[in-house]
Amino acid sequence: MAIQRNESDWQLRAACRGPQSAMFFPPQSPERREDKRERESRAKAICGECRVRPDCLDFAVDIREQHGIWGGLSENERKILRVV
Ligand code: SF4
Repeated sequence: MAIQRNESDWQLRAACRGPQSAMFFPPQSPERREDKRERESRAKAICGECRVRPDCLDFAVDIREQHGIWGGLSENERKILRVV
């Protein structure tokens, strides 16, 4: 969790806490498509092992988080989820 808002209990148990949290968000400089795919794949692998994934995804969808990997889904994947 690189972005913290009133840190909840589930956020304290997030598998992405710590230095690896940077891979969940795009870098400041432009990112090549294949680099983005690899970064997101590594982030999603961490989400796949995370005990609070449902809480994280619900939170990101509820607040319409625009950036990063949350609950194992990218911003575009979460948008699709909201439409369905
Ligand atoms: S599901 Fe992924 S983004 Fe959400 S808390 Fe767990 S590791 Fe972090």
